[in-house]
Order: sequence, then structure tokens, then C-alpha cells
Amino acid sequence: MLRWWKISLSSRTKLILLAVVALMLPTTILSIIQYRSLVDLESKTKVAVQDNLRQTLQTINHKVEDNLKYLARKTLGSIEKADFEPEGFEKLDRYFAAIKLKHPEIENLFVFWLCEPKDKSFALAYTNDGLKRIGASQLKENPDANMAYWAFENAHATRISTDVKSEYLFWQTSSQESMNKPGRQFQEFIFRILPCSDGKDSTAFAGLSLKPSYIQETFLPHIIPELLRSCDIDDRDSALALGIFDETSNEVYTNRTKWGDYELKSSFGPAFPRWKIAVGYKDTTIEALAKDNFQKNLMLTLFVLSLLVLGIILTLRATSREMKLAQAKSTFVSNVSHELKTPLALIRLFAETLELGRVKSTEKAQEYYRIINNESRRLTQLINNILDFSKIEAGRKEYEFQEMDVAEVVEEVIRSYEYQIVNAGFELATDIGHDLPPASIDRDAISQAVLNLINNAVKYSDEDKKINVRVRARDSFVAIEVTDTGIGIPRSEQEKIFEKFYRVSTGLVHNTKGSGLGLALVKHIVEAHKGQITVESAPGKGSKFTLLIPASAASVKTKEVKFDGGYKVAESPNN
Ligand code: ADP
Repeated sequence: MLRWWKISLSSRTKLILLAVVALMLPTTILSIIQYRSLVDLESKTKVAVQDNLRQTLQTINHKVEDNLKYLARKTLGSIEKADFEPEGFEKLDRYFAAIKLKHPEIENLFVFWLCEPKDKSFALAYTNDGLKRIGASQLKENPDANMAYWAFENAHATRISTDVKSEYLFWQTSSQESMNKPGRQFQEFIFRILPCSDGKDSTAFAGLSLKPSYIQETFLPHIIPELLRSCDIDDRDSALALGIFDETSNEVYTNRTKWGDYELKSSFGPAFPRWKIAVGYKDTTIEALAKDNFQKNLMLTLFVLSLLVLGIILTLRATSREMKLAQAKSTFVSNVSHELKTPLALIRLFAETLELGRVKSTEKAQEYYRIINNESRRLTQLINNILDFSKIEAGRKEYEFQEMDVAEVVEEVIRSYEYQIVNAGFELATDIGHDLPPASIDRDAISQAVLNLINNAVKYSDEDKKINVRVRARDSFVAIEVTDTGIGIPRSEQEKIFEKFYRVSTGLVHNTKGSGLGLALVKHIVEAHKGQITVESAPGKGSKFTLLIPASAASVKTKEVKFDGGYKVAESPNN
């Protein structure tokens, strides 16, 4: 199993497999966990928002209660037992009149003395007719006082059953209970409990009733928006929709702008025990809020995840590149050693033969000299390539530009190597234009580039041995073309061959040794001249490499072209 792994998988495949197992798998598991927790979070968000709304309602209830209590404390808070005595009657009358003047929202005011002995019970009621003393037996004859007494009894019973120890009590009569008063919808009562001297649970109290119009038209429309603003729950408070319903489910107040369901409904007590208060959002629902939250979190997770995956892919690519480079370097070392060894062995062999005087004919000697010469040239070329490459890598490669004729430089290279090429069985054709514009070039570098291209044409040719070198002006460039009828380069490899150490790994190349530096160097040289290198090639048909070297700006001739309008137009020499 392990052997199979070692043999059949390339290091690149191993790297990918490792990445899948070590990185992608945990990332996928993490994503699934994250997704599930987001779904969980969505339902928790719903509960949390609902809780927030519940708290908002409670806060509003308490604040409304506090507000009404404040009014009751201001008006009923200072009433004492002495005010009930017959001597205090006039004082109380004046006091109630002053209160009504100051608080037009108050409808009636009462005090009830119901302490022992019961036969001494009485009530004082301040209505539109002024202050009246009502004896225990006359209570039924006074509907306002009777209603107040009945409301107090209800409030008091609730107080006992809920064990609330508040000094102030509330009661609200329904519209049916107020039938005895035509046109009356409901009545809101606030009572203040007064201590009886017998120490028993007291039934002495002062109370007031509020005008229903005040509650509906002034109190609620004024206080609710203020309370909503002060409910500091989250930044959506301004978007809260609130409604108040009476006992027949009639909406008596709402700040809602659009139709939509309230999310939560509860009692509007203790101040308005018969009413309900409901809350929701004006333009959304809890469901939509939770979904929105979920989607935002999901997007964020997906974004982070894609960054992670991108990071993994980039790391993988970089690692695989490094691996390829390391592999290429080791191939390079073995190739170069072979490239160095072969010419050296030949040079030694022929030099020794000559030295020992074993060569009989001068022709033979001449041939050996030529071989030595050729091999040392190859060696020089290879060493030059390696030295230049290392200079480029270290950023120390310098060019010395001089304005000169490119054709001359190319011709010189051909002259030096023509014999060698032809001797290797090649048909060498040249087409070097004259009167080309001069270019600012580094002579040695351009020679080296051309030589590399010619060398490659020789190296990568099979049976059909033809090389064509052409130098022509093209637009504002001087184009050097080296064409062969060799093995060609597959399209997918044509970009990569300019990378350092890269060698095509199919076809004849397997048998041809090389450093993989030649074209990388040529590209660097051309780019240093602000030029370009291009390749046109088809497997089995041959290749054409073109170097485009910019001609010196001043030398790009301008011709005067006459148009009807008589403009002067710069034209490239080729046109
Ligand atoms: P080397 O020739 O030392 O391998 P180069 O950088 O000069 O390195 O070339 C890179 C690769 O490009 C070569 O290995 C070869 O596969 C391909 N190549 C270059 N020139 C030619 C050509 N004229 N015909 C076919 N293939 C070529």
C-alpha cells in the first residue's frame, strides 16, 4: 500500500491529497458546524427579540403607572384625616376646586371614610356641582360616588389577592359598567389608601377619576412615543409599532403606519387593567429580522470561507511552484553537468590526440582543431548563459546600450557560427534587410540572445534541418526572426518555455540536454531593451521566434503625406 503510494503518485498529487485531507476536510467540517450554529442562532434570535419586546411592554406599563401615580401623589398626596372633619369641609372644597382648575383632565374627586363604626361612614364627592357630603345610606342616590366606591372595592380586592402593598390603586370601569352615564365609554380611577385609626386593613381612601377623552386624546398620544424613544433596547426602537386595545378589542391608540401583525400582546395593567397593549415592528417581523440576521451572518461566513479557500489555493499553488522549481533546479544541475562534461571530454580527447602526434593528415588535424574550437564555443555559450542568469537573479546584470545597426550584429553572429551550423547538416538561409533604423542595444546581449535562438533551432530539429534568420524593420521596431522546421512546441507550452528552468517534457526534448535557461535569458534581454519576444510554433512543423527591438525614436523616419487638408502625418518606415 505504502509502496503504491510512493510509486504511483506524483509529488503534486500527494500535495493536493494532503491539502484535501489536512485543510479542506477540517474547513468543510467547520463550515457545516458553523452553518448549524447559524441556524441555531436564528431561532435564538427570535426568542431574544421576543424577550426584548416583552421587556419593552413591561417598561412601558411601569412608566405609565408611575406617570399616573405622580399625578395622584401631587393631587391626593396631602389629604389628611382632618380634612374629613366637618370643620375641614370648606378647606377641602377650596382645595379640590384649585386642583380641578390646575388639572382639567380630572373629572371628579372623592374622599371616603369607611372606618369603624360603620354607621359613621360617609363620603365627600367633588363633581361639577361642587363638594357634597354623602351619608352611608345615600350612596346609591349619587351615581358618581357609587361608581367610585364600586371601583375602589374592585381595586382593593385585586390589591389583596395580588398582595401588592402599593399606597395607590387603579381601576378602570368598562363602557357597560358606565351605562348609567349615557355617552360614557369608560372611567379611569386612581385611589390613595388612607390609614384608619383602628389599625385594620383600611377602607378609607381619597380618589380621582380622569376624563376618558384626556386618556385617549392627550395622555396616550403624548406619553407612548416618548416612552418608546426612551426604551433603550436596541437601535430598532424607533421602528417599534405599539397598539392599545380596549376590552372589546377596539384599537384606542396606535403608532403603526402600515398594516401588520403585532408580535406580542399583554395586559396594560396595573394602570389600565381592562385594556391590552401590543407591540411589534412597523416594517418588519421577528421572523424577517431573524432571517435577515441569519443571511448576514451566512454571507460573512461564506466570505471568510472563500478567503480561506482562496488562501489554501494560493498556498498550494505557491508550494507546488516551489516544488516544481526545486525539481527543475535538480534537473538543471544534472543537465548542466552533462552539458559541461561532453564538450570538455571531446576537447580533451582531440587535444590529447593532437598532442601525441597521432594525427597523420593535415585535414584530419584541421577537423580536430575545428571540433575543439566548436566545443569550446559551446562551452563558452553555456557558461555565459549560466553567469548571466546568476547575475540576473542577483539583480546585478547591467547592459551597455549603444546606438548601432542590429543587422550588423546578427550578421556577425551568423558569420561566426555559419560553418558549425552548416556542418551539422543544416540549410541556413538569411534575409537581412539593409537600411534598417538603428537601435540602442547592448551588442553582447543581443548577440547572446540571437545565438541562443539559433542554438535552440539546431538542438530541436529532427530530420528536416532548415534554419532561416530574417532581420526586418517592423513599425517602430527592428524584428529579428529565427525560424526552424524542427519539432515545434505544443500551444499549451508556448508561454511556459520562457520561464527559468522550464523544458518541454514531451517528444524529442527528452533526449536533448539543456539548462532551461536560454529562453528565460533571451526574454530578459529583450525586455531590458523595452522590446518583446514572440513565438509561433506547431508540433512537427517548426517554430518561429521573433525578437522585436525598438528602433531609436529619432530614427523612425517621418514622411510627409499630403491629404486634402494638408496635414503632416508621421508614418512608420514600413508603410
Ligand atoms: P534549453 O534549450 O536549455 O532546454 P531554453 O530555455 O532555451 O532551454 O528552451 C526551453 C524549452 O523550449 C526547451 O527545453 C525546448 O523544449 C523548447 N524550445 C526552445 N526552442 C525551441 C525550438 N526552436 N523548437 C522546439 N522547442 C524549443
